[in-house]
Amino acid sequence: MIITVASGKGGTGKTTVATNLAVAVESDVQMLDCDVEEPNAHLFLKPEISDTTTATTPVPEIDLEKCTLCGECEKICQFKAIVVLGDTVLTFPEMCHGCGGCTAVCPAAAIKEIGRELGVIETGHRKGVAFGHGRLRIGEAMAPPLIKKVRALALPDRFTIIDAPPGTSCPVIASMKGTDFVLLVTEPTPFGLYDLKLAVGAVKLLGIPHGLVINRADMGDRQVYAYAEEENIPILMEIPFDRRVAEAYSDGDLIVETQPEWKDAFRHLYVSIKKMVEEQKEATPCKS
Ligand code: SF4
Ligand code: SF4
Repeated sequence: MIITVASGKGGTGKTTVATNLAVAVESDVQMLDCDVEEPNAHLFLKPEISDTTTATTPVPEIDLEKCTLCGECEKICQFKAIVVLGDTVLTFPEMCHGCGGCTAVCPAAAIKEIGRELGVIETGHRKGVAFGHGRLRIGEAMAPPLIKKVRALALPDRFTIIDAPPGTSCPVIASMKGTDFVLLVTEPTPFGLYDLKLAVGAVKLLGIPHGLVINRADMGDRQVYAYAEEENIPILMEIPFDRRVAEAYSDGDLIVETQPEWKDAFRHLYVSIKKMVEEQKEATPCKS
């Protein structure tokens, strides 16, 4: 089972939920932090990093000796990343999505692919939790290719938790597309509600079962609750606005460890998600 923990906006407690859930389940768990622009799950899990690799994406390099200036590469590129200009071919690696289309259509075999650095991927362990995250190179604009590489670390025999970037843009979609469940973390404020609606819209478009965790649940107003009821979105957990929870967060600790009663709550959350995923798979057997 692969689930994504997401939120319409930053600062709602998404990483708190993802990391506490991973440690509460204890064994056969994998945590993949796909917030590659600002990964922070490692600050709470404190994994022992055992491997660091440079992640690259393929971009075209032109052999002008072979090139006939036919323009086929320019025609197929959806991203204007390769252009025939006069008697040369220009490439714009920062705009290239690495689809390989130009190499495939070049009739003169004048294009070879070289690697452009996206960032690094680090993997490791913390007790029963396998860990992986990506760190986007400073100045790199394209997060989705690195996110896909982090997602490719998913182990088939584990319960995999993906910590998505905040928001509803392409990196978020790349993090949750094809997963079994999306756990949306929000807070009961007008801002929380606004961003939650955007996130729910994206999850519904992708057709992924989803549920809510409401953080700082006893502050703000009841509009998020009313919206969840209207949209028939189950509220799977509420975390109160509690000084001890905030202190654990600011110290880089996990509440399942500093306040053991939370361990049962997060295990219960896991059981609820598993049940919903199983029910969904039974309802759509062709997908399983
Ligand atoms: S498709 Fe190949 S031969 Fe044609 S312009 Fe592009 S690089 Fe040159
Ligand atoms: S690999 Fe794809 S995106 Fe990149 S230049 Fe070629 S066609 Fe364009």
